[in-house]
Amino acid sequence: MRCKPTDWNVIEGKKCEICGKKAEISLLYGPQHYCKMHFIYLIEKRVKKTIRKYSLIKPKEKILLAMSGGKDSSVAAYLINKIFSNSCEIKALLIDEGIKGYRNKSIEFAKKNCKVWNIDYKVIKFEEEYGISMGKIQKKIMKDSSIGNPCSFCGIMRRQLMNKYARTIKADKLVTGHNLDDECQSILMNVCDNKPELFIRLGAKSGFIKSEKFIPRVKPLYEIPENEVFAFANFAGIKYYGGECCPLSHEAKRNEYRETVNRLEKAYPGTKYSTINFFERIKGMLQKDVYSEFKLKQCKQCGEPASTNICKVCEKLARIKK
Ligand code: SF4
Ligand code: ZN
Repeated sequence: MRCKPTDWNVIEGKKCEICGKKAEISLLYGPQHYCKMHFIYLIEKRVKKTIRKYSLIKPKEKILLAMSGGKDSSVAAYLINKIFSNSCEIKALLIDEGIKGYRNKSIEFAKKNCKVWNIDYKVIKFEEEYGISMGKIQKKIMKDSSIGNPCSFCGIMRRQLMNKYARTIKADKLVTGHNLDDECQSILMNVCDNKPELFIRLGAKSGFIKSEKFIPRVKPLYEIPENEVFAFANFAGIKYYGGECCPLSHEAKRNEYRETVNRLEKAYPGTKYSTINFFERIKGMLQKDVYSEFKLKQCKQCGEPASTNICKVCEKLARIKK
């Protein structure tokens, strides 16, 4: 099953809506067709609109870009740097989970882009922060699969580190590369798993709970489909890691949702936008019903914000380090 797009739609014989030149991409939900230059212009305009609509970033804020070297975070970093480099202080965080043959390769793209775009960056390694890399966690899981799967460790550890570092440097916002497809898949997964509490991570600006311990995470690509992010990266000449997917990926379920959402979009163009629009409409109700009960605590071991006395990261690591 595919873990990333390999192409974008283009209907032969169509002309760019704006200049009339040969179209290089077709947006089937329009339908609209664009040449490379006008597609780049369109995406920039749409990202600016998302930023305004959800008040994602304001001038003079301190911004931390989470960069992996993949297409999504590279495109998000490129655009935010282009739009805000004169009005905001921008830094980048590159997290090295210790996945040989994958992250060591992708992180090189992130470093190079930071140098080209003149962005200060910091690399943080799981091994140094938590005393264990994902490679070592995988070895333990291979001996005892009841511990969980690699992604269940990696995701929470990465999120905790991003938040912690963003707080350390007093960032106002943490920018991630999540796109429209990521959000649609997560919305549907949370519905099918009956986990409304996980909606807290979704939306252009995540985090219903206001706390100085949580730095708001913002997603400038929230309204851009994944294959359009892919096309933009290629048309704009952005260098990114396009190699094999993570060898530890345990995201078979997410890939099923990816395929399903793409199938639905093909049959009923506009499905992805309808899905996030539905989420936007019920967000307010969730805030009242699901999160009003939520009490934020502090992990007794590491001091990070948690919903229980011991945070998920400490709990899972204690089990694996036994
Ligand atoms: Fe981590 Fe899983 Fe993503 Fe690999 S696929 S980087 S293990 S969350
Ligand atoms: Zn903890």
